[in-house]
Amino acid sequence: MLDQFTYIIGPCSLESYQQMLPIADLASHWGLTFLRAPLFKPRTHPDSFQGLGQSGLTILKELEKKGPFQWVSEILSIEHLDFLFSEVAMLQIGARNMQNFELLKAVGLKFKNSAQSPYVLLKRGFGSTIEEWAASALYLERHGVPKEKILLCERGTRNFASPTGVTLDFALALEAKKRTGLKVIIDPSHGTRSREWALPMVKATHALGLDGVMLEVHPDPDHSVSDAHQALSLESLENFFSEWPHGPRGPL
Ligand code: PEP
Ligand code: MN
Repeated sequence: MLDQFTYIIGPCSLESYQQMLPIADLASHWGLTFLRAPLFKPRTHPDSFQGLGQSGLTILKELEKKGPFQWVSEILSIEHLDFLFSEVAMLQIGARNMQNFELLKAVGLKFKNSAQSPYVLLKRGFGSTIEEWAASALYLERHGVPKEKILLCERGTRNFASPTGVTLDFALALEAKKRTGLKVIIDPSHGTRSREWALPMVKATHALGLDGVMLEVHPDPDHSVSDAHQALSLESLENFFSEWPHGPRGPL
């Protein structure tokens, strides 16, 4: 699966079955299986939606009747490790936790004591250097995550100059791939914070020979409970896939 250009699509936060169903249908139509299903959300403001938590699992179980989806979900706390480890195909460690060393160690150790073997997606902290990022990946590896199960994800550096407030660093992503030998994907949604610029970054990612993208998409983007400004509509993603010759070709 990961030997091809990988697409991970899905909402910023899992909200409901009705929200996720059309995204799952779109994924099935294009032969994509990795779906973002964030249950636990790291939110800046305490009053913001924090995710459905473990209860969101019933939605995923219902959707599994529709196809062989591989869930991608973020881990915020060691407390949720057992639960997430048994349910997801890819465990995301977000930008804010890239240097949560106890979490990195715990995720690694879990591989030694479990039959499951999900991918681990390590996002770069938005102020982290390439050395810090690579060192965090080494924490995972040293503590038990097989190297072929670790993926890096570049999601941009916080800045105060560009209108988007973030700089997606493709040169850093290429350098990280070269230095670590790990697969590196790009998150154009958090990396541009913009609906308009996310899809052109998919083309750039592909042209540079990087390994895939993670995109936020929502059936009603303006009403997304989180990151509405960067949520792509289903139609825009569908049009992009239809028009771009390098896009996914759909189920065989
Ligand atoms: C996310 O992908 O849901 C997310 C919170 O991104 P980041 O950790 O890059 O901010
Ligand atoms: Mn988001």
